[in-house]
Amino acid sequence: MSLCWENLLTSHVSLFNADTAARASFSRAAPASTGESSEMSGRGRARAAQSTDARRAKSPACPAATRAKDREDPSPRTAHKGKGSASEPERGPRRKREEVDGGGGGASARAGPRPKPEPNRASPGGKPAREETDPSRILLETLEKLKIKKQHRAEAAATINEVVDMIEKFMEEETECFRQMVTLRTGSAYENVKINEPDEFDVMFAVPVYRTRVQQFGDGSAFCSAHVDRERRTRPYSQFVQEDGTISACDMLNHFRELVKVAVKDLDSLEVKKGCPAVTLQIMKSDMEFPISLDIVLGLEVHSSSWPSFTKDGCKIEKWLGSKVKRDFKFKPFYLVPKYEVCCFSTDAWRISFSHVEKDILKNHGKVKTCCEKQGVQCCRKACLKLLKHLLHTLKERHQKELSEFSSYLAKTVLLHACSSRVDDNYWATANLSHCFQMLLEDFEKYLKSGSLPNFFIPSHNLLASGYSRRSCEHLADFIAEQRNNGFPIFSGSSQ
Ligand SMILES: [Zn+2]
Repeated sequence: MSLCWENLLTSHVSLFNADTAARASFSRAAPASTGESSEMSGRGRARAAQSTDARRAKSPACPAATRAKDREDPSPRTAHKGKGSASEPERGPRRKREEVDGGGGGASARAGPRPKPEPNRASPGGKPAREETDPSRILLETLEKLKIKKQHRAEAAATINEVVDMIEKFMEEETECFRQMVTLRTGSAYENVKINEPDEFDVMFAVPVYRTRVQQFGDGSAFCSAHVDRERRTRPYSQFVQEDGTISACDMLNHFRELVKVAVKDLDSLEVKKGCPAVTLQIMKSDMEFPISLDIVLGLEVHSSSWPSFTKDGCKIEKWLGSKVKRDFKFKPFYLVPKYEVCCFSTDAWRISFSHVEKDILKNHGKVKTCCEKQGVQCCRKACLKLLKHLLHTLKERHQKELSEFSSYLAKTVLLHACSSRVDDNYWATANLSHCFQMLLEDFEKYLKSGSLPNFFIPSHNLLASGYSRRSCEHLADFIAEQRNNGFPIFSGSSQ
């Protein structure tokens, strides 16, 4: 079943500023930040003495069948910094949030000696590979093209911080149910695996919840319900707790969306689009070279002594990153986001997300801790992911009809599985880029042909089980094989 973008439950707010007054307009809309530095340093801001919900918008009815938006990542992009705790603290000042990283980094596949060109392989159809092709050279040149300019990254980060800060301030001062929200950032922009331009950001506003029981819907899904104990129903989010003790994803999401719209209403030239589960702000200023898309995503930050039982066979990183790292991950909170896809189990469900762990893993991805540090050995894991995402993106552009539904989250999952089964850093040495990328593509083809790609954290959940037709999976596998066997003509702009 393919996802239908038109039916998505998202508010799309487009912001087009005609002149450089745009920055000033942001400041006008966030008076508490006035006088502070242009960096949105809302952290030192005093809390409002008393919150009011006077501007709270009424929640619209929950749609019967929420169709979802398939973003790059089906999980929310979270960037959680704090440690989890099973005990609920007294209500206090909002926790320090993590700023958008204006700097850049990430492994570069340029480091290390250039590997020898590999012999080309025959294509599935027996077509001989082109002799003049040097996959390594093409891959390295492609990576160079995909690099994001530091200046672009910094400008985008400043813009995003400004808007996020405005929403944070509004939620903190003007609402009761969302005043303790924590902002979390992950996704490719924060994992240094974003390609081309820093034009897509995702920020989750997560409500901390404690002593919450998470129950999976059926076997093999990432969907679940969240139950709170009777005595906990006096929490700030209690208005969303239903008779049976479950927190209503629909009600909370609808209310949140309306509040976000109010929070950014003073920004110039807003266009509110109907449809998606997140609130998407599209920001275009005259001094920007490209528009930035910012998804504001609602979430629950679940504080528990461990992850739910249905994740127990997942996240196999013991032989790669170590048992201690895994244990530490399990002490951290995990996140639930309102379901974005069609869920056959319930019209009101949450989906579990480990994007904060994914971010940690991608940042600290070596068996040796110093992997890709300045003084350490450089590897090609991130380079492989960038190339895989780029290949998928480019194939999707070229074959829109057949491949439109494929998410780059699949690429990330393929890499995580590959890293967890090929744990040696030497395997991923930069000199092996071409070989590693070839292997990664062969992995992907196998998953696609079998129609089964297990969720890295929930092995019983097949990411290809819904939303992807068998036929489109086979198409993608064939397209990838064709590129792999012919020296990636698509990267060099060849017509093949
Ligand atoms: Zn590395």
